[in-house]
Amino acid sequence: LRLTMTPIHRRDQGISGTIAVLQDVTEQERLEQSRREFVANVSHELRTPLTTIKSYAEALDDGAMDERELGQRFVGVIRNETERMIRLVTDLLHLSRLDSNQAPLRRQQTNVPEMLEEVADRFSFQLRKKAIRANVRVEDSISSVWLDRDQIDQVLDNLVSNAIKYTLDGGRIELTARKLEPASIAISVKDTGIGIPKRDLGRIFDRFYRVDKARSRNMGGTGLGLSIAREIVKAHGGNITLDSELNEGTTVTVILPTQVSGGERA
Ligand code: ADP
Repeated sequence: LRLTMTPIHRRDQGISGTIAVLQDVTEQERLEQSRREFVANVSHELRTPLTTIKSYAEALDDGAMDERELGQRFVGVIRNETERMIRLVTDLLHLSRLDSNQAPLRRQQTNVPEMLEEVADRFSFQLRKKAIRANVRVEDSISSVWLDRDQIDQVLDNLVSNAIKYTLDGGRIELTARKLEPASIAISVKDTGIGIPKRDLGRIFDRFYRVDKARSRNMGGTGLGLSIAREIVKAHGGNITLDSELNEGTTVTVILPTQVSGGERA
């Protein structure tokens, strides 16, 4: 709380009273604090790959370049780190567009079973590489839903790519869609992966929050996938939740309303 005292001056009478204003600044302070944290995180996330790139470039300069195999490996590291930085900046720009509402929804009638099959197809190479089985199950009563296909594809890509990243070889992933009364659908991505400790669940949608930073970075993660998914789902008037059991698996559920207000259709 912030207290501001303002004296009231009356002509000829000097100070005749005081106005006291009590203001709730906690929300404002909280926003300011999270903005500062965000900037610090972004700087750190950008500096980490840059430091790696610099030291590998120096090592190449110092002679690693003369050994063909070593040289190739170092160049590989530099390329990977550069690609991760590009992904990071792309994710940041996307988030910033979502934050400032510059990514208006372009809803279209979307066939849900088809949409889920196509996500699984996009990842078929990665799934095969880790011998992970994926199956899609959609309730018969679900056909088309009015949603922004590109953005929901982005959500599903983030969730499925996480499910693959955090599931060991030979695991299983399930994509399901079911109807929720009265007017929404629930799309779930369930895996049999490493799971998330209970203590981390509360912050898992926070920007840059990861259970294991090193592991996420090694897998090429930016720590922004779930935050982006949450913003997109929120823009659709829906919500996203995550359940997880350590060493058993994780289920992320996206709930989307199927009835969209007239204004949004225009
Ligand atoms: P990242 O790029 O690190 O994957 P995300 O925002 O997509 O960033 O996810 C944040 C963190 O949540 C991950 O670093 C990981 O620790 C955890 N996580 C997300 N999805 C899963 C999952 N399916 N299984 C286990 N952990 C997960």
